[in-house]
Amino acid sequence: MKMKIEQIPCLSDNYGYLLHDEESGLTASIDTPDGKVIAARADELGWTLTHIFNTHHHFDHVGGNAYLKDKYGVTIIGPKADAKRIPGIDQAVSDGETFTFGNHQVHVFHTPGHTKGHCVYYIPGSNCVFVGDTLFALGCGRLFEGTPAQMFESLAKLAALPDTTDVYCAHEYTLSNGAFALTVDPDNVDLQSYMSEARTLRNQGLPTVPTTIEREKRANPFIRAANAKELGEIRAAKDNF
Ligand code: ZN
Ligand code: FE
Repeated sequence: MKMKIEQIPCLSDNYGYLLHDEESGLTASIDTPDGKVIAARADELGWTLTHIFNTHHHFDHVGGNAYLKDKYGVTIIGPKADAKRIPGIDQAVSDGETFTFGNHQVHVFHTPGHTKGHCVYYIPGSNCVFVGDTLFALGCGRLFEGTPAQMFESLAKLAALPDTTDVYCAHEYTLSNGAFALTVDPDNVDLQSYMSEARTLRNQGLPTVPTTIEREKRANPFIRAANAKELGEIRAAKDNF
């Protein structure tokens, strides 16, 4: 049985997520942009938080770790490469590793670029991947600690997932990403229709996330970059957009 996923807008443009396995009763928070908001939603749903899966060390992703650990005694799982920067980490995981969450297998991919230690969590049994700040709808994370070559490899790992995989990004950046993407790839009809849908959703106050691997492979200039050099050039142009 697929797990339930609850999307929780936090801070100015972050998304927190609760991942709930009915069968085992386990509930994970994917990152912790706002501990109090996440706890309130979990309580409303009657889900008791048991885990946190962190993607990377930035404050808008781990800021609620201490509060939630204190409140629920959760087990915190995060990237080994960044274990020192993940508050309260209990279990450090590495690239290619799989761990069990209820009746589900969670696959860890190390996706450096945005940060050195960034990782993503892929759950084939629920057809979803939580990508933190590696991949965004029509964008990718800024290269704060990594190189274009690392981000290129990281995006290639995501591009290799099944096309129908639901992609849960950590921010609502789609309209600004798309405005830039249209300057890179103005004649891409998939990008044009993606953007008109995204505008409609945002006008109604609705999220554009999750996206899918297929949508991104058709329209996202970063995941479509032919090589690390091209990715680096597009990323640099976006930084100055
Ligand atoms: Zn970040
Ligand atoms: Fe972030």
